Amino acid sequence: MKKEGLFALVVSFLMLTACSTVPLINRKQVLFVPQSQILSMSYTNYNQFLDTNQVSTNQTEVNKVKTVGNNISTGVEEFLKENGLTNRLEQFDWEFNLVENDVPNAWCMPGGKVMFYSGILPLCQNNDGIAVVMGHEIGHAVARHGNERMSQSLMVAAGGMALSEFMKSKPQQTQELFLSAFAIGSQVGVLLPYSRKHEYEADKLGLTFMAMAGYDPNESIKFWERMMEHGGPKPPEFLSTHPADAKRIAQMKANLPEAMKYYEASVQKSP
Ligand SMILES: [Zn+2]
Repeated sequence: MKKEGLFALVVSFLMLTACSTVPLINRKQVLFVPQSQILSMSYTNYNQFLDTNQVSTNQTEVNKVKTVGNNISTGVEEFLKENGLTNRLEQFDWEFNLVENDVPNAWCMPGGKVMFYSGILPLCQNNDGIAVVMGHEIGHAVARHGNERMSQSLMVAAGGMALSEFMKSKPQQTQELFLSAFAIGSQVGVLLPYSRKHEYEADKLGLTFMAMAGYDPNESIKFWERMMEHGGPKPPEFLSTHPADAKRIAQMKANLPEAMKYYEASVQKSP
């Protein structure tokens, strides 16, 4: 085979294996790290985090996070089924945790491993507020933003080297790229903020998920306004990794009417 032909074959193979679509948004994305590898890294880091952090003993607050989490995950499952994405369901093995940490932060690792830090609860104020953060973080996970970010930074770090080769020969650097891409950056001192595009997508997905689970999507606006009041020169980690501004809130408001349809349908269904 001629060189050009081989090149075209390799490129089309890459396009076939690496192309994915963000649900609801319908944006094509390029993912270079196999989902199985992402999940395995996720579980390792998640367990390591749980081993080295203090799980909350405040049973009332723990139960709030778990209840909201279970309700939202039911909403996500309903959403994926309605959108013909049942094959993605098996990649979620949900767990919802609350750790003792004054830093206002929360994240969802691939596979549905959710972590709330106790410092974010005062900003959430109520169950709807918890649902805002939960929906948004799960939105990033469903949209596979972490894999997309990791794929991009791996390409840069690996230069011309094959990615699988790079990941095998540089496990430490790969690990740091993972934590950074999944916005669990403070442990390695690198904070990689989500792009505006990723924030809009996670907001839209989050509004839909929380509404389907019966939480009032209007609370989303209130939560992010409260969060922005905590901005300034040293914003909380959550705001650094999920940057918010007036434009983002305006976009959220524009998405509200659609989310309200899900909310009203959900409220009517429940007794
Ligand atoms: Zn975000």
